[in-house]
Amino acid sequence: MDLVKETQSTCPYCGVGCGVIIQSTGNQITGVKGDPQHPANFGRLCSKGSTLHLTATAEVTLQTRLLQPLQRLQRLQRGAAPEPVTWDSALHTATTKFAQVIRDHGPDAVGFYVSGQLLTEDYYVFNKLAKGLIGTNNIDTNSRLCMSSAVAGYKKTLGADSPPASYEDLGLASTLFIAGSNAAYAHPILFRRIEDAKAANPALKIVVVDVRRTDTAEAADLFLQIQPGTDVMLFNGMLHLMLWEGWTDAAYIAAHTEGFDSLKALVRDCTPDAVAAVCGIRKAELMEATRLFAQSSATLSLYCMGLNQSSAGTAKNTALINLHLATGQIGKPGAGPFSLTGQPNAMGGREVGGLANLLSAHRDLANPTHRAEVAALWGVPNVPEKPGKTAIEMFQATADGEIKALWIACTNPAQSLPDQATVRRALERAEFVVLQEAFATTATARYADLLLPATTWGEKEGTVTNSERRISRVRAAVAAPGPQDNGSRHDWAIAVDFAQRLESALGRTPALPTLFPYPTPESVWNEHRESTRGRDLDITGMSYAQLEATPLQWPMPEGTTSGKVRLYEDGVFPTPTGRARFVAAPYTPVAEQREARYPFALTTGRLRDQWHGMSRTGTLGRLFGHVREPALHMHPQDMSRRLLAEGDLVHITSKRGSILAPVQASTEVGLSQVFLPMHWGDEFLSGQSNTGERLGGVNALTSPVFCPDSKQPELKHAAVKVLKA
Ligand code: SF4
Repeated sequence: MDLVKETQSTCPYCGVGCGVIIQSTGNQITGVKGDPQHPANFGRLCSKGSTLHLTATAEVTLQTRLLQPLQRLQRLQRGAAPEPVTWDSALHTATTKFAQVIRDHGPDAVGFYVSGQLLTEDYYVFNKLAKGLIGTNNIDTNSRLCMSSAVAGYKKTLGADSPPASYEDLGLASTLFIAGSNAAYAHPILFRRIEDAKAANPALKIVVVDVRRTDTAEAADLFLQIQPGTDVMLFNGMLHLMLWEGWTDAAYIAAHTEGFDSLKALVRDCTPDAVAAVCGIRKAELMEATRLFAQSSATLSLYCMGLNQSSAGTAKNTALINLHLATGQIGKPGAGPFSLTGQPNAMGGREVGGLANLLSAHRDLANPTHRAEVAALWGVPNVPEKPGKTAIEMFQATADGEIKALWIACTNPAQSLPDQATVRRALERAEFVVLQEAFATTATARYADLLLPATTWGEKEGTVTNSERRISRVRAAVAAPGPQDNGSRHDWAIAVDFAQRLESALGRTPALPTLFPYPTPESVWNEHRESTRGRDLDITGMSYAQLEATPLQWPMPEGTTSGKVRLYEDGVFPTPTGRARFVAAPYTPVAEQREARYPFALTTGRLRDQWHGMSRTGTLGRLFGHVREPALHMHPQDMSRRLLAEGDLVHITSKRGSILAPVQASTEVGLSQVFLPMHWGDEFLSGQSNTGERLGGVNALTSPVFCPDSKQPELKHAAVKVLKA
């Protein structure tokens, strides 16, 4: 009988970053259990994590996976079945096409759209390929849809993209202030820790701010159901009250911050009456939330997409961090602003600078010294200065014909980006689209000229960083699937092979050593590690060998033996003056306000048992036990006013498109608000654009308007009308 092998790894779903033990027999994954040693979950797993092995059976692999390179030989064949080709042929085609576009139109005529689900090593190679070899900053990621407002918020206020708190602070807080986060669904194991903290300390107060009465809100001592997009007004109003009541920490403000006077002037008009009117809450609720935040011995804020996915995403983040600085609720046990990362490795991608405006190790593209440092590290003459196109801009530029070749890795923009009509126009218009993917079933696969099969969870090696800055190893339990000589390859290895071919095609001097001398993911990680020396996320004291033993938090510079649980305990911040900065950002309403023709505010979000576009979770019947099919949640009073009954089909229409879905009565949403889950695409939520193209999913409706600072789109809000079909 074959022995069961156990391999320690990490869950590939959310940013909690739970440790898993993969059980395998021969080359088949047979089971999964929580890793009792992993500090993120201590053995627990949620419904998604505990069923991972069932999404990796031989049958599911055969039905859903991309198992060998495929090519559509002519552009007009898109949508037709692609033909199998060898890896050599596929990468030769990709190299020839990209080199031709770069020669004819310049480096900015190509773009790379990658993913917060790639491992840090994958991300590092793609970033160096775009910025170091090709000379374009046109590399962005689906993390733009996820965490870029949190990044901008941290940098503006605290000086660096470094979440200051840790999971252990959940058990040390006196008040948990949860804003725009349904952690019960989106971060279930973290939510279990919140429940544990409450059970251990019944005096712990939980305040939840959300537009929906979610399962997380049900656990709250105080729930503020605000109107969509009004968070900045709420936070500024809380500061107004703190000043009025004398609840700010004058000594902390004087010793460790700057810019408070401008903020004080800004919040003068944010009176309780004004806040109550704008946010749709009672003044007593505002007062109680303010008291619980300011008067507790330790306040920890947890926040997620409700703040980030907004046209005012950065302002929402900074307004909340302002409250922590004004009350000294930062840099001490149980206190601080703590963004919850949506994807498993959005943090790792930020660490290697894999976004259009960032460089390696939290360096900024706009900073000439940083560009020179990265060029020296990579051994290239320079890193281009011109900012790259961020996610929405990249697809708009492709739709406009400015970007001609796109390389998409481990993400499904034909479902997940807002304003699908523009995205699909972009994918149609591009001269050449490469899709590097584990799954053959994504909507984007229909638009690819070349499909490159990638390994995924249980098959690949590398590292990820979770919400609390903890780096964990991801390990392979089984071999890459597909034909032995032409099957799936690791993402970093595909990028390295392509990069080395492109070096020759672009005429890089043959005498020069390759820029991509990586035999293993560890060799990539070691180069990344060196790039962090002296930076806020310095990990020069860490090694793969240490990570084999236990996941570690950054920073951990050379000479230290453990990472930092908490940042800024000395009150010194990584800004030029060492002081944290208050940001005086005024409240601005959602970009697309409700009006007579579009009277409902649509919000989108996750379900407990599904993940993203369901490439993996959608393969498992039991994960549909919680919610069987997509439905538009509407308040019962709104339904009766429109003569709608449970299950009626309705057309949901925004200025960009229209889709069809059943309606479901729900008191989770307020009046004139509706909610639709984000997971289902064309097949289940069919519809059309306002110019008649067939498309579907909730993102046929959503808006591409983005935050001016973070460029993160307002996925959480669109004005819609709802009519019986
Ligand atoms: Fe995976 Fe997140 Fe569930 Fe943990 S909480 S098992 S990381 S999906």
